[in-house]
Order: sequence, then structure tokens, then C-alpha cells
Amino acid sequence: MRMKRSLIFVFLIAFSGLSAQVFKCNSLSGEARENLKRDMEFLASDDLEGRLPGTEGANEAIAYLIRNFQDAGLRPFFPGGFTQQFAAPRPAHLPKHGNWIRVKSDTLYVNDGKAPAPAFVLLPYSKTGAFEGSSVYVNAGIEGVHFSGQDLMGQIVTMDWELTAKDKKKYAGYYTGLSTRMENAQKAGAKAIILLDRKNKKGITQMMIRRQRDLGIPVALVSGKKWVRKLRRAQKDLGFSMAIQERGAEAYNVAGFLDNGMPTTMVIGAHYDHVGLGKWGSDDPNAEGQVHNGADDNASGTAVLLELVRQIKQHPEVQGRNVLFVAFSAEEDGLLGSKYFVENCPVPVHDFAYMLNIDMVGRLNRADSLMIYATESATEWNSILRGMPCDQFGIEEIPALFPRSDHASFVRAGIPAIMLHTGLHEDYHGPTDDLDKIDMDGLVKVTEAALEIIRRAEAYPRMTFVDIAAKNARVQ
Ligand SMILES: [Zn+2]
Repeated sequence: MRMKRSLIFVFLIAFSGLSAQVFKCNSLSGEARENLKRDMEFLASDDLEGRLPGTEGANEAIAYLIRNFQDAGLRPFFPGGFTQQFAAPRPAHLPKHGNWIRVKSDTLYVNDGKAPAPAFVLLPYSKTGAFEGSSVYVNAGIEGVHFSGQDLMGQIVTMDWELTAKDKKKYAGYYTGLSTRMENAQKAGAKAIILLDRKNKKGITQMMIRRQRDLGIPVALVSGKKWVRKLRRAQKDLGFSMAIQERGAEAYNVAGFLDNGMPTTMVIGAHYDHVGLGKWGSDDPNAEGQVHNGADDNASGTAVLLELVRQIKQHPEVQGRNVLFVAFSAEEDGLLGSKYFVENCPVPVHDFAYMLNIDMVGRLNRADSLMIYATESATEWNSILRGMPCDQFGIEEIPALFPRSDHASFVRAGIPAIMLHTGLHEDYHGPTDDLDKIDMDGLVKVTEAALEIIRRAEAYPRMTFVDIAAKNARVQ
């Protein structure tokens, strides 16, 4: 929702008697801006080398977060302290002799998935295994349309990565997202899935692949006309071998707790990891070896998180709840940190009132407005966000989940959660997402907006969760 100035003015007059408008734009002092700038300069510096989980740069970021949490008097949230360790899998080595697809006497070996075709890449989280047998082709794999019942039991299933434009229209009401289609095939008994990408225009990036969830069966992706044509036919004699030699990176979530002695707790989260030197997760195939500073993604959200730690302590009017501050790791690996957090939380996650995710908020000057995603995750968000008192930028409410950031892990766990965001851009996941492009004044405004949301949300001790994760499953 975007409001005109005049409307905001009317709103302010109408409600000024009801509640103090504490966090108007420019309500925060210059000190807030200085803090944000200092945090940004540290987190997005070359010294941190893109904050890839398991690296020295990431560990420096962790130490910095802990120091700031401690200085603000937060309590360590985990039994062992401020950090929670988990493994971020890295398919470091895919030996050629163990990773291939064979149809009759023709063999396609693993490669990195980059053009030119044909390419054969493996989904990193899929299971290792070797299969001989027959395959079935299920088109794009929409259950009830392209297959049903027991058709897939014990089969190697080949499936189009994308729906045709025609099918997209025709089956718009179905759950046609890739994850859903793969999950359904797995549930129907598929023992392995080979995704087919006929176009292979620029190759499927590792990034897209890493976003998928572990299905517990081998999953690979093949692109290029010749092999796609072959695999679109049911084959009687197909061999498929995957031997991933996994190597995990040590990743850490960092969380501090502000105990206000209140009955409810809210969560504020931002991921602090990024894609390091671009070997893994860069959108730019030529940028390997360059530092991907991730100033916007997501040093910006982490800096706002740290400023909120300081601000909330100073503002009693936002202390109606306890606050849990979490800096997630391995978000870039497919939300691994937040997923691990909700599944291994020291307290029951259902007790959290709601979660506020801050991801990529450094470009407010380029966006028309501050975007707030997943506002359908609770019925109360509309009232909370209505008429946010600021005359310098709009608030754009987006009901849909946007499944590619950490709030999605909370929604999937049944917690109302929204994401603050100022838009994607050409530097996204490239080596040019740098500090000089960050709108520092914008970061102050985003901090103010977050404080205002928190203040308003206190009117709703229990929010009414809406399961938009299921509803949005068809949207990739
Ligand atoms: Zn990212």
C-alpha cells in the first residue's frame, strides 16, 4: 500500500489524540546514522571477504555481532552462549567417474552446469546412489494432470524443470512450483528425479538449485536439447549414479535475548552471511575470486538489526514484549540457518508472537517505497501497517510469502512473519554489491519503520496466523 502525503496528514490528525507518534521519519538522532554507518563499514569491508559460512570473514562477523549484543546487555539465547552451530553442506567434490547418467551406451558426465549444453548438475542436498532401471517422463509433473496414483513407484522420473507458457496459464490454479512438483513425485514413489531444462539459455545457476529442499532421493538436472530429447522418452535401460563427497562448513546463528519480563516474545532476524568469493552462489559466472561484499545483501539488514538492539533498549514504548534478536547464517545456502533455528530452538517456537525479517534494505532511495512481504501471514498485519506515519516514503504491502528469505522458515513453522526489503537490483549476488551504493539515510528510515511496526504490533498480544506457505507453494 502506498499513501499520498495528504492522506497521511489526515490520518495523523485523526489519530494524534489516540497514540503518540513516536517514530515519525527523522525521529532518530544522528547517532543512529553513525552507528549504522560503522556497522556497514565493518560488515561490508573486504576484510570480511563476503562472510561465507565457515570462513575467517564469517567468524569475524560473528565476533562483532556477539560484542554488540553483549554491549547492549542482551542475554545469550542458546544453552552454550550466543551461537548455535550447524553444518552448511558444500558439495565440494563431484568425481566424474561417480557422477553420470547413461542411456544405453551413451554417457553424460557431471559438469558445472554452465553453458554450453549439454550440462548435468547435481542438487547438492540430494542423496548419493546408483540406479539401473527404467524411467518415466511426467512432463512438468503436475499431480493429477501429468501423473497420478502409483505410476511412479520405483521409477526414475524425468520431469521438465519449467512449465510451458501454455501450461502455466492452464494450470494457474494448481500447485505448480518446482518444489511441490518434485515433492509430489517423491511421495508417489519416485526413487530418483532428473529435471530437464531444454532451453539451457544461460545454464542453470547453482544458486537456483541450492534453493531447493532436500527430498531424500537423488535429484539431478540435465540441460541441452540432445539429452533432454532422450530423457523425455521412457527408457528401459537407464543408469544414474551420484557420488557426492560432501564437506560441511561450520555455520553459526547468533542470537541474543532482551528479557523485559513480558509474557510474549517477538523475533527480529537478519541473515549476516553472503556468498564469499563467489565460487558458490554468485550470479556472475566471471566473478569467482572477487570479494562479494554483500553490502545490501545483507550487511544492510544486519546493521539495522544491531541498531534495533540499541534503540529498543532506549524506547520503553516498544518493550511490551521480550525481544529475541537473531543473526542467521547460511541463508544464501537456502535458508539453512533459519530452518535449523526453528527446528532446534531452545524454547517452543510456537510461543513466538511474530517474526520480523530484515533482508536487503540498503536501497530505499532507489525504491518507491519500503516493501513489506508476507503481510498475509497474519490477519492483523493490515491494521498494523495501515497509515504508517511517515511522509518520506511509502509502505508497500505485499501479501505473498516471498519464499527466499528467512521469514519463510518461520511461516513454515506456523509463526506470523514479514520481511522488510527495498528491492532487487543489478548488483544482486554480484561483486558490485558495495558500500558506496548504500542509502545510509534510508537505513535510518528503515530502522524507524521497524520500530513503528513493533510498537503498533503490541496492540495484538496474539496474532492470527495464516498459512501462506502452503498457499504460495505454487509461486517460485
Ligand atoms: Zn542473498
